[in-house]
Amino acid sequence: MPTFSTAPAPASTPSSPTTPTVAVIGGGPAGLMAAETLSLGGMQVDVYDAMPSLGRKFLLAGIGGLNITHSEAYAAFCTRYGEHQRHLQAMLDQLPPDALRDWIHALGIETFVGSSGRVFPIEKKAAPLLRAWLHRLRSAGVRLHARHRWQGWNADGSLRLATPGGEIAIQPQATVLALGGASWPQLGSDGAWLPWLKEKGVNIAPLQSANCGFEVAWSAHLREKFAGTPLKSVALSFTDAQGRTEQRQGELLISAHGVEGSLIYAFSRPLREQLNAQGSATFTLDLAPGRDAERVLAEVSHPRGSRSMSSHLQSRVGITGIKAALLHEVLSKEQFADPATLAATIKALPITVHATRPLAEAISTAGGIRFDSLDPNLMLTDLPGVFVAGEMLDWEAPTGGYLLTACFASGCAAGRGALNWLRTQPARSGAKGGAEFFSAEKKKKKKFFKACSQGIEGF
Ligand SMILES: Cc1cc2nc3c(=O)[nH]c(=O)nc-3n(C[C@H](O)[C@H](O)[C@H](O)COP(=O)(O)OP(=O)(O)OC[C@H]3O[C@@H](n4cnc5c(N)ncnc54)[C@H](O)[C@@H]3O)c2cc1C
Repeated sequence: MPTFSTAPAPASTPSSPTTPTVAVIGGGPAGLMAAETLSLGGMQVDVYDAMPSLGRKFLLAGIGGLNITHSEAYAAFCTRYGEHQRHLQAMLDQLPPDALRDWIHALGIETFVGSSGRVFPIEKKAAPLLRAWLHRLRSAGVRLHARHRWQGWNADGSLRLATPGGEIAIQPQATVLALGGASWPQLGSDGAWLPWLKEKGVNIAPLQSANCGFEVAWSAHLREKFAGTPLKSVALSFTDAQGRTEQRQGELLISAHGVEGSLIYAFSRPLREQLNAQGSATFTLDLAPGRDAERVLAEVSHPRGSRSMSSHLQSRVGITGIKAALLHEVLSKEQFADPATLAATIKALPITVHATRPLAEAISTAGGIRFDSLDPNLMLTDLPGVFVAGEMLDWEAPTGGYLLTACFASGCAAGRGALNWLRTQPARSGAKGGAEFFSAEKKKKKKFFKACSQGIEGF
């Protein structure tokens, strides 16, 4: 994993006395986008991250190809955020997917649209993008502080930061919290912020696994022989508590604990909701999606002569390996020998999940700070001057680039929210009002805006 050098720790109150200072806590996509937006708006920005280098989860996403956004029509794109569409769309309107692509291009990174409509950087890596971005941020005067772990607030309202040199307290004029969710805690976002914000009265939906695997009580035989085996060309069908059925074709993975993979992730939200409500959830797999039920029944019922049932299934329906093992897993010997039951199970093999895999393993986090705790600037209503962005907010979305796009957009929105709010605040020294300062700084930065703000409207 590449590392990025950071500036030394600052004194507690950096910058000139008239410069509004903003602390961004969390150097992932949301925090860095908030920092860039604030810097473009003329603020002195310090980014603090607990880890030895910034953007670690972003870099990990790069290992999977870095699906940064999606090319589908904007109206359809926005529906991916489900019940939180209204809140997310207000942020996405400020940095929509096309503008995000322009922003990436302005960093010298080209993008392409894959056959599924997903958008990737040309090299399918995060490191070149992150390196260019951090360089641009530093050149703009943003100070990046690694190994600075936020630990909540002191009684006087200052932020407590654990640093290699000991604990420090800082008192910025505004703070953006962009601490991520709680998946992959080894990369930095561990959800430790939750009790500190709860204590302040912030309304937080429980953090849960999203885009995650599920646990299934496999037999020892299936676990020992087939854990790690991909299950290709199947169609998953699930009916939720409201009676809505969704079916999709794709691929999943049989793991020692249960099921993983893109097809399962696509259903993770309704499966999790049913689990929460009923303690278990059952979906069905069509093991022969290319053949209709009548044809499967006809093939299975075809006289097999002296051939074994497994070679009969292989030659007539293409069922072999893990697919055959799953049929043996759910059917008794008698059921397996009955053509009608066997054919029906090939078309709808039931799998019951008992739990989500732990949040630490999930791609993303559902739950987080509820939107009713925030004003339209993404400021916590109980904590004036504290703004929130990224995965620590209460929304979720499927894979497909929707997660990163929303993190970038919310970072942009929180940065703008902080700018709006700072404009209404007198500067700390009292020398200049926030608005006065803002317009002076904006002039100075005009050239920089031109080079950097492509795609970020409104500057
Ligand atoms: C394996 C994997 C692959 C993924 N692939 C994709 C993909 O292809 N496309 C996509 O759209 N999404 C993908 N995601 C999801 C995406 O990476 C996240 O949604 C996104 O990184 C969240 O951004 P964020 O800025 O909110 O939080 P994070 O990226 O988690 O950043 C939060 C930062 O805050 C810091 N922090 C946390 N607590 C503290 C503290 N107390 N003090 C100081 N700093 C702190 C952390 O160190 C971290 O750097 C993937 C996720 C995973 C795990």
